[in-house]
Amino acid sequence: MNILLTNDDGLETNGLKALYQELKQLGKTTIISPITQQSAVSHAITIFSPLFVEKVSNYLPDKTHIYAVRGTPADCVKLALGKILKKKPDIVISGINAGANIGVDVFYSGTVAAAIESALWGITGFAVSLEKPNNTIKLDFSSAAKSAVKIIKSLLRSKPPKGSIFNINLPAGNGNRIKGIQYTRQDCGFLPDQFVSGIDPRGRKYYWVKPIPKKCQPKPKTNGFLISDIKALKEGYVSITPLKANLTDGSYTINLS
Ligand code: MN
Repeated sequence: MNILLTNDDGLETNGLKALYQELKQLGKTTIISPITQQSAVSHAITIFSPLFVEKVSNYLPDKTHIYAVRGTPADCVKLALGKILKKKPDIVISGINAGANIGVDVFYSGTVAAAIESALWGITGFAVSLEKPNNTIKLDFSSAAKSAVKIIKSLLRSKPPKGSIFNINLPAGNGNRIKGIQYTRQDCGFLPDQFVSGIDPRGRKYYWVKPIPKKCQPKPKTNGFLISDIKALKEGYVSITPLKANLTDGSYTINLS
C-alpha cells in the first residue's frame, strides 16, 4: 500500500513523525508536508505565488527523505497527487494534529482540509487529531499514533468507498483513558467568538480571538450518527466522523415562484 502523509502543524511537531513511525508497517509512506504552522488555514491554496519544495533527508530518524513545502496542507495534497508522486497513493493521512478538530473546527482545520482534498481526487482521506485540553499537558503522540493506525486499519478492512473522508479524534491521555470508539456526527453547536483587545508596541489596536470551550448542539436534526463528536471525545471515546466534501443541503426543496 502507498500512503501520503501530511499535516497542518508544519515540521516542528512530533505528531507527524510519530504517525510516520507507525504507518511504515502499513505501507510505503511519503511525507509531503507544509514547512510552517498552517493550523486554521482551512482549504486555502496558493495561487499568486509559486510553490517551493525542499527534499529533506535528515528529518526522519530512518533518513527517508520528505518533501517540505512552503504552502498549505491543501497545496501539499494537490502537489503530491498532481505532480510529485509517480504512483497515486491508496490513502492520504493528515496528522497527528496537536489539538482536537471537532464540531465547527472542521470548517477551519487545515488537517481536515487535506483529507477532504484527497477525497476530491477520489482517494480516501483520514484526518487524525489528538485532544489537547490545556497548554500544559504533554501530548503522547507515540501512543496516539499506535491507536490511530489500528483504527485506520480496521476502517480499511470495512472497505469504505474510494474518496471517503474520516475525521478521527483521539482523547488526550490516550492509552489508559480510551473507553472505546464511537461513530459520531459533526456537532455544529456554535458559540459566538470572543476577542481580547490591546495595544501593540507600535501603538496599534489589535483584536485576538480567544479559545473558548465547545458547545454541543441542543437537538441534532441529522438522521445519521447521533452521538456528537464533541460529546464522544469529552467522555473519553475516540470519535470517528465520516465527512463528505459535497456541502449541498438536500434536507428541503425550494420552489421558485
Ligand atoms: Mn494544527
